[in-house]
Amino acid sequence: MKEILIATHNQHKKEEIQQILGEDYKVTSLTDYEIFDEIVEDGHTFHENAHIKAQYCFNKTGKASLGDDSGLVVEALNGSPGIYSARYAGDHDFAKNIAKVLDEMKEEDNRNAYFITVMCLVDDAGAHYFEGRAYGQLTHHVRGEKGFGYDPIFVPEHHEITFAEMPAAEKNKISHRKKAIDQFLEALNH
Ligand code: IMP
Repeated sequence: MKEILIATHNQHKKEEIQQILGEDYKVTSLTDYEIFDEIVEDGHTFHENAHIKAQYCFNKTGKASLGDDSGLVVEALNGSPGIYSARYAGDHDFAKNIAKVLDEMKEEDNRNAYFITVMCLVDDAGAHYFEGRAYGQLTHHVRGEKGFGYDPIFVPEHHEITFAEMPAAEKNKISHRKKAIDQFLEALNH
């Protein structure tokens, strides 16, 4: 059985990927290897950050390792919050981060934005990248309570409701993360 180490302590992420990959793969996490070091994500791009995490895990364990990095990219803000999405105003303080984006966008008519996920797999053959994007529009006000992060201010294209107003199953069919995982799966199957 092929093992893939996910560069996270997030059990939810690990289980989600295990479920998608199925029984042919054994998905492990940093917790399983008792790696509690802080991996410094000081890259300048989503690709660099995903690579830093995956390479770190590969160097430590020699196992095929998958790192990921996600965020919100707003056209009128020249790509911000971008790689700083998690800590734009306050560290993992979703309400503060949203308030900062809405404030910066208050006079702005161009509401175009997208979520992006970049995944990097590092194995003996080197680094391989997979990317998914979900395009949409920013609202002027917070709407909905589901999900996390910037979900309450993002309406995906071809929809009228925000990610935070959608059942998780619906978001997971069209999300940036789903699209990146699909790319990853396609590569594994070839
Ligand atoms: P991570 O790289 O998956 O930890 O995501 C970094 C940050 O991007 C999160 O803390 C959120 O602020 C934002 N983000 C990433 N994916 C989503 C999403 O699906 N919905 C809302 N916000 C997201």
